[in-house]
Amino acid sequence: MIDFELSKPIENARQMIHMMAEQTMRPISREYDEREHVEPTEWHQMIWSVSQGSEVGFGGGKSDKKGPSERHLASTVTIEELSWGDAGLYLSIPNAGLGGAAVAAAGTPAQRQRFLARFSEGEPKWAAMAITEPGCGSDSAAITTTAARDGDHWVLNGTKIYCTSGHRALDKSKGFVVVWATVDKSAGRAGIKAFIVEAGTPGVTVTKVEDKLGIRASDTAELVLEDCRIPLDNLLGSPEVKTQGSEGFKGVMATFDATRPAVAASAIGIGRAAVDFVRDALEKAGVAIRYDAPLSKLGALERDFMEMESNLQAARLLTWRASWMMDRGMVNNLEASMCKAKAGLAVTQVTQKAVEMLGPLGYSRKLLLEKWMRDAKINDIFEGTQQINLMIVARRILGYSAKELS
Ligand SMILES: Cc1cc2nc3c(=O)[nH]c(=O)nc-3n(C[C@H](O)[C@H](O)[C@H](O)COP(=O)(O)OP(=O)(O)OC[C@H]3O[C@@H](n4cnc5c(N)ncnc54)[C@H](O)[C@@H]3O)c2cc1C
Repeated sequence: MIDFELSKPIENARQMIHMMAEQTMRPISREYDEREHVEPTEWHQMIWSVSQGSEVGFGGGKSDKKGPSERHLASTVTIEELSWGDAGLYLSIPNAGLGGAAVAAAGTPAQRQRFLARFSEGEPKWAAMAITEPGCGSDSAAITTTAARDGDHWVLNGTKIYCTSGHRALDKSKGFVVVWATVDKSAGRAGIKAFIVEAGTPGVTVTKVEDKLGIRASDTAELVLEDCRIPLDNLLGSPEVKTQGSEGFKGVMATFDATRPAVAASAIGIGRAAVDFVRDALEKAGVAIRYDAPLSKLGALERDFMEMESNLQAARLLTWRASWMMDRGMVNNLEASMCKAKAGLAVTQVTQKAVEMLGPLGYSRKLLLEKWMRDAKINDIFEGTQQINLMIVARRILGYSAKELS
């Protein structure tokens, strides 16, 4: 059986979230783009309280009460709508986010309870994930941050950069950051583990918050870990270093199977915002898209517009498939990279084309089109760049190992 229709509960939630995005995000979109580093506190409080009562969870991290379900697909649909509203604000939403995805992918049931329960109570909180370092990006096996065992603690040392929500997780709330570090440099990938560093832990400091091209409502932090001591039980997965194979590393890498479809969904939301805007503008100018006209009769604008729409549609179908597989407990490593690579490229092309089609107005700050073009590019960079995700797709299809194709 194959079914591309959203279930009633997801469709109802989608409509509700779309309305909220239109009414609460769009009106403050430009303000928090212009005023980078200013907290949209009122909006965070509002969205936190709404998400507390929501089954879906605004960006993941909620427990699944009903067993195998549509949780990931619902989350994907939610993220697309929120990013249609504003991708920077969406990324700034207080929730378990990337850090929560790592705990869900590699943590024990006890760790999930200990670290994720806080997102269903009290004040707004954030969680983040810190992999990238000054000398390590795409090749996460090159991590140099160390974790050394000392009695009943791990002691972490190193610098992490470009950590989304790192500042809010550590300085603005009782959240946490999942820090990737090596317990044994000589073991390569097998030595890399993920550790939870909670807000208030001595030895972790946010040293900088980046100024960025787009998604400016989202904080992107640099963290320094200096003899940062955390309990032994803050390690996700096993402390064992298996030099034959890299199960531990694969465990932490599994986080990406959940987060890549989320990034793809956000990309599609931004792209759809641009396409919706252009469609309205064309209609106002008296250009109706003739979907039934033969190719030879189409105008350039119509052809370009259809290409924009079809690229987003293709990206959405790939993203829904990757999420649907997760909901069924299927391995979706290939599909997660496929949707992320397609959506990251589609949104950069679609938003650029939209700016181009509107002419000087598209380039003007009067409209949000130029902002969407700036917001779009990050989806082609984080959670694995375009090139890295294409390489993973090639590896999976051709059956090559990371060593054979890198
Ligand atoms: C706004 C923002 C938020 C971020 N949030 C986070 C976060 O929350 N947590 C986190 O850990 N990181 C985060 N990052 C970092 C992001 O994941 C990295 O920038 C990304 O992984 C790329 O790494 P790099 O910048 O070191 O680039 P590099 O790895 O140096 O790559 C540079 C270029 O070379 C290409 N390239 C590299 N290797 C290959 C190869 N083998 N084959 C072909 N091409 C290749 C890349 O595709 C890229 O185009 C964020 C970055 C930004 C800008």
